[in-house]
Amino acid sequence: MSVLDSYESVIGLEVHAQLLTRTKAFCGCATSFGDPPNTHCCPVCLGLPGALPVLNAEVARMATIAGLALGCKIQNRSVFSRKNYFYPDLPKGYQITQYDLPICLDGSLDVEVGGRTTRVRIRRIHIEEDAGKSNHGIAGESVVDLNRAGTPLIEIVSDPDLRSGAEAGEYLKRLHEVLMFMGVNDGNLEQGSFRCDANVSVRKVGTEALGTRVELKNINSFRFVAEAIDGEARRQIHLLERGDRIRQQTRGYNAEKKESYVLRDKESESDYRYFPEPDLPPLDLSAAYVAEIRSGLPPLPAEKRRGWVEQLGLTPYAAGVLSGHPGITKFFDDARSLYADALKLSNFVQSEVLRDVTTSGLDARFPVTPFQVAEILRLVDAGTISGKQAKELYAAVVNTDRAPEDVVRERGMAVIGDESAIEAIAKSVLEANPKQVAAYRAGKTALLGFFVGQIMKQTKGSADPAVVNGVLARLLAG
Ligand code: ADP
Ligand code: ZN
Ligand code: MG
Repeated sequence: MSVLDSYESVIGLEVHAQLLTRTKAFCGCATSFGDPPNTHCCPVCLGLPGALPVLNAEVARMATIAGLALGCKIQNRSVFSRKNYFYPDLPKGYQITQYDLPICLDGSLDVEVGGRTTRVRIRRIHIEEDAGKSNHGIAGESVVDLNRAGTPLIEIVSDPDLRSGAEAGEYLKRLHEVLMFMGVNDGNLEQGSFRCDANVSVRKVGTEALGTRVELKNINSFRFVAEAIDGEARRQIHLLERGDRIRQQTRGYNAEKKESYVLRDKESESDYRYFPEPDLPPLDLSAAYVAEIRSGLPPLPAEKRRGWVEQLGLTPYAAGVLSGHPGITKFFDDARSLYADALKLSNFVQSEVLRDVTTSGLDARFPVTPFQVAEILRLVDAGTISGKQAKELYAAVVNTDRAPEDVVRERGMAVIGDESAIEAIAKSVLEANPKQVAAYRAGKTALLGFFVGQIMKQTKGSADPAVVNGVLARLLAG
């Protein structure tokens, strides 16, 4: 047993997710991404003297949706506070956030790794505003873009219930998925709409007391999160084994070197001089308001998967693939309302359609419509085309708005299964090849393949082989 095995990692995550509102949290400026710098700013989000914030109602609604989806208790009253710190991307010199009275408390999210399910407690979710963005090294200078300043975020704080990098990665994936399925976050990691700080400590297996934690800042990739956390845990174990103590620090992660590095020694709460925001009233949400939002919640992705497995007979793997994005889930559900055999549909969507699907945030682009897919599968079921031809037909309608039936007709793809039609063709083939017919009847039965081949040639391969064989057997015997 290695010394590493005598320790366990203890991880708690703080996730910042941008709410998908059209306008900022406390003013009417647009939240759009990628526009020219400093084009979405006003006295409120710039913190000019005398400008007063007003809460965007959509922020409360989306935070409530997120809280309910994560099993939280929504608070009747929550309070905004000022978190004071000085940084160039923070124009007001403080961030409006929620402190001791956040909007959501006590939720949870189940995470499964290696067949073991862990219920991760969600301590709180609070509303806050994002800062602007500093860009360094532009013509040798650092410049600040305040378009993002004041964009609404929720911060989702877990209890330290995660025990490995893999579990933390899975928790993030599930959380990301829930927020996207609820339509409150676009899930765009590259654009920073979903960011994670990981608090990591280690302790001897079997002990209860929490070790000193290190906060890893802004790990924006699911790929690196597990690696960064496990690497940080190993670093701490080596320090402890050497007899050193862990310093409570904030560290960054260098994905290339696979190492964390010190950003700063952790500031304490008192450094922020939190106090209630005097310019905003408490946020009061009635029970009726919360109940109405609860009744309108879309199904959770985990519930969808369970339903597909239990009621439709999909494998957990297939259910996972088809719930990989809200757009894919919707496509599958829409196609199911047009075509009943969920298993055939699931196979076809996975083997053909998903190859060509592209997603960007909450958008998903499909090269075909649910209607086209349903019609292709119906043509197979009706025996009009073969399963193999279904792939050819798919390739012919992909990225077009053509009806599969029209393409089948135009290309003469339909399987000729009609016995009298095949008999007429077979008769003409036999008449045109009297020598081969005589040889066959004299015992050279291997010539059957020759006749089948001739018929297939005349029908461009679309004759139903079973019918062809039956008809030939009858005609040649006579
Ligand atoms: P702070 O008040 O400094 O922000 P919190 O108590 O709010 O600290 O915890 C912040 C995050 O750190 C939470 O996600 C929590 O689960 C996690 N955390 C707290 N203590 C530890 C620890 N010893 N090891 C790992 N994670 C921890
Ligand atoms: Zn503004
Ligand atoms: Mg905290």
